Amino acid sequence: RRPSSAGVSTAALLLTAASGGGIVAYADSARAEEAPEPPPRKKKVVVLGTGWAGTSFLKNLDSSRYEVKVISPRNYFAFTPLLPSVTCGTVEARSVVEPIRRMFEKKGKDVAYYEAECFKIDPTKKAVHCRSAVGTNLDGNGDFMVDYDYLVVALGATVNTFNTPGVMEHCHFLKEVEDAQKIRKSVIDCFERASIPNISEEEKRKILHFVIIGGGPTGVEFAAELHDFLVEDLVKLYPAIEQFVKITIIQSGEHILNTFDQRIAVFAESKFQRDGIELSTGFRVIKVSDDSITVKCKSSGVETLVPYGMAVWSAGIGTRPVITDFMSQVGQGKRRALATNEWLRVPECDSVYAIGDCSSISQRKIMEDISTIFKVADKDNSGTLTLKEINDVLEDICDSNKESMVVNIEEFKKALSHVDSQVKTVPATAQVAAQQGYYLADCFNKKDHCIEHPEGPLRLTGSGEGHHNFRPFRYKHLGQFAPLGGEQAAAELPGDWVSMGHSTQWLWYSVYASKQVSWRTRVLVVSDWTRRFIFGRDSSRI
Ligand code: FAD
Repeated sequence: RRPSSAGVSTAALLLTAASGGGIVAYADSARAEEAPEPPPRKKKVVVLGTGWAGTSFLKNLDSSRYEVKVISPRNYFAFTPLLPSVTCGTVEARSVVEPIRRMFEKKGKDVAYYEAECFKIDPTKKAVHCRSAVGTNLDGNGDFMVDYDYLVVALGATVNTFNTPGVMEHCHFLKEVEDAQKIRKSVIDCFERASIPNISEEEKRKILHFVIIGGGPTGVEFAAELHDFLVEDLVKLYPAIEQFVKITIIQSGEHILNTFDQRIAVFAESKFQRDGIELSTGFRVIKVSDDSITVKCKSSGVETLVPYGMAVWSAGIGTRPVITDFMSQVGQGKRRALATNEWLRVPECDSVYAIGDCSSISQRKIMEDISTIFKVADKDNSGTLTLKEINDVLEDICDSNKESMVVNIEEFKKALSHVDSQVKTVPATAQVAAQQGYYLADCFNKKDHCIEHPEGPLRLTGSGEGHHNFRPFRYKHLGQFAPLGGEQAAAELPGDWVSMGHSTQWLWYSVYASKQVSWRTRVLVVSDWTRRFIFGRDSSRI
């Protein structure tokens, strides 16, 4: 290391006085030779969010290669698939969360965590503006800025009310752990309110009408949990009001669970009908007031008022304001999610990546490539192609550089086989988020190697992305579950395999126990299930 200028001049004076001028230069150069080279500055990686995508990225990232900073208002990871179980006390809230610092500590990761919310991403200055919940800086407003070399945006999504009047004010949501805790209190609250003397039967019916808006997996799972809670626990504790309880699912489509195999939707609908859960399919909610929900029949246009005691809105996901702002800065307009290329990078910024629910892989490029090839191949403009015609055109393209293009054909064929599944099925799920986090961390871990060996495998398309060091992200669908209550579940597994009933519930138990992020949460969740089997659910309103 070089001495400070003050140090040089003092040393120079002393040595000059003792033995003449030349020695100073010699001493300085000897010191410079001995001094080790400072280590190269580690690149700064900033990760926004500690959900499925963010934690999967952090768990798999080799943090010794980077200076890693994590920003999220939640200092824990939440296992969202078990949130419906938290709403009724089947599983306790603390059993489904893992402190984020504990996750880093266990993996021996050198990661800085700031409990704050990012409210602006500035890609030109390569910085994020954050606000801590506690006002700690000199201005007392908790604002601070963090700069980055690489930014990983894993901010998830927010609820989408489709601007339906009254939803924000009167409905519950089921997105966060706090939401599940609020729902749990609210359910018990309805039972206690309906048990107060001098309440009319009509009022009791209203208070004990639980309405779920949205028949997707979350709404269905919550309805099933609530039904189990009622028949297994609450009817014993509130026998006098049992007959007034009703659960309704309002779904705008013709079927519930419409992202699942149709056999599962049919099974779920018939089970719910047997359980007395009312399914109002083909209805759209147009307004919610403090005591009634206005629904409109999609086919007849007739509007009806539905009195309710508690309503849960689980009808779609929306964009966080910070993402909307960022999209407008980079010219992505008013999309629902931040578009990335197949390597999960935001194409407009060279160092910003987006993963999980806040992002979506743009299929534009793949579709353009394919339609160009199809246009060339369709010489007679018939609008149809035989496999031979496609092969011929690929051979033509390969003529110029056959050897390297052989790889391209393979890539192209793979892209063709993938495109359909990618366009249709990259959904906003934990599975996708976790796979994207893992994939991106792997790319970051190999970045140095790829910089040293920039030749990398040739990409299919030649233009734009041309050479690329990594294979594009490909989502692998591992199946999905829908717990339906009464110790029954439905599962859609790879290979068009569908399983339904009691045995599937045991499969659900084992998969969800194994998927827990730590042994601590695994033990807690399994002991909660056991406690529920033995003692039932706790109905205290705390
Ligand atoms: P999230 O997990 O939502 O994480 C977003 C992170 O960003 C959070 O840490 C949040 O605190 C943080 N954040 C938010 N705003 C800011 C900000 N301004 N600045 C900094 N940080 C911020 N998927 C499945 O595959 N299977 C299931 O069974 C399943 N069940 C579900 C059940 C429920 C009740 C819910 C709500 C979802 C379920 N999902 C399921 C979907 C799954 O939870 C999401 O797809 C997944 O959480 C997406 O991960 P993510 O990391 O993108 O977002």
